[in-house]
Amino acid sequence: TRTPVNVTVTGAAGQIGYALLFRIASGQLLGADVPVKLNLLEIPQGLKAAEGTAMELDDCAFPLLQGIDITDDPNVAFDGANVALLVGARPRTKGMERGDLLEANGGIFKPQGKAINDHAADDIKVLVVGNPANTNALIAQAAAPDVPAERFTAMTRLDHNRALSQLSKKTGVPVSEITKLTIWGNHSATQYPDVFHAEVAGKNAAEAVNDEQWLAETFIPTVAKRGAAIIEARGASSAASAANAAIDHVFTWVNGTPAGDWTSAGVVSDGSYGVPEGLISSFPVTAKDGKFEIVQGLEINEFSRARIDASVKELEEEREAVRGLGLI
Ligand code: NDP
Repeated sequence: TRTPVNVTVTGAAGQIGYALLFRIASGQLLGADVPVKLNLLEIPQGLKAAEGTAMELDDCAFPLLQGIDITDDPNVAFDGANVALLVGARPRTKGMERGDLLEANGGIFKPQGKAINDHAADDIKVLVVGNPANTNALIAQAAAPDVPAERFTAMTRLDHNRALSQLSKKTGVPVSEITKLTIWGNHSATQYPDVFHAEVAGKNAAEAVNDEQWLAETFIPTVAKRGAAIIEARGASSAASAANAAIDHVFTWVNGTPAGDWTSAGVVSDGSYGVPEGLISSFPVTAKDGKFEIVQGLEINEFSRARIDASVKELEEEREAVRGLGLI
């Protein structure tokens, strides 16, 4: 039998955790023939609920699931981890300033980064889901100097999937025939979903849509504000779709992108497209042999340039703020 892949999930007792763990254990994260072991990290108040979820996981008798450990100690949770999904975060509460939010999350992601640095397996891959995801990923990455920076990523796949779905509805072309869509920048309201390089049924998407007003006034805000619309409708934030996107992100990272297509992920910038080096920003990326690569050489028009720059500026401000707080 193959040795299992160690998958660590933080915030395991939360909503997204509940939607995520069963899919990991059933083989959808890594592949239908890859055994997994789950390590669940929670804060002390979350441990009992995590134990309940673990009981349900037992009761599914998943053939690929080779064990579940639950702990509130990051040094234990990340020991030998091959894949880490950092879901647990401090949500923004009423009256909380951005600085307070970044500081509270620094208190979570800095020690987790250090624990990953000291205890994870050499091939560790990290996906940060907990918000503010890009900057939380930066904090964790900065605390893990012995891990190659490119192993720290932030999730913009949900934004990518939302954009695919909106473009499909507008054009009447199924999502399976839409390629090369891009989310740029921060996973926040400033993110920029870019259709100028996308293709719908083999035709340029911007030309197929041929409606710049729809792009600017309907498509972009619908994608960027989808989270709020779901809270409004459901009375709770999106969880199953966020978990689904985390599954998609890691599956693609490990198993690769199809030829002639790419996806979107928050990855460490190498300076491409004028995004300052070191920021964790969303880019068009391909994946091959377990590595993401930023798609090079795309022409950026004026419409896109202004929007990418605005989102990247926000990421720079967040980086300055966490620098000021001594978190990186
Ligand atoms: P959720 O499981 O709903 O969300 C977890 C995180 O994912 C939040 O930061 C949330 O951001 C973020 N997120 C990213 N994308 C999305 C999206 N598209 N839709 C919704 N959320 C998104 O939160 P719960 O409160 O249910 O659960 C959090 C759990 O984490 C709790 O059990 C808590 O105990 C635990 N926790 C664990 C820690 C640890 O392991 N050390 C540290 C802190 C908390 P947003 O707030 O912006 O919605």
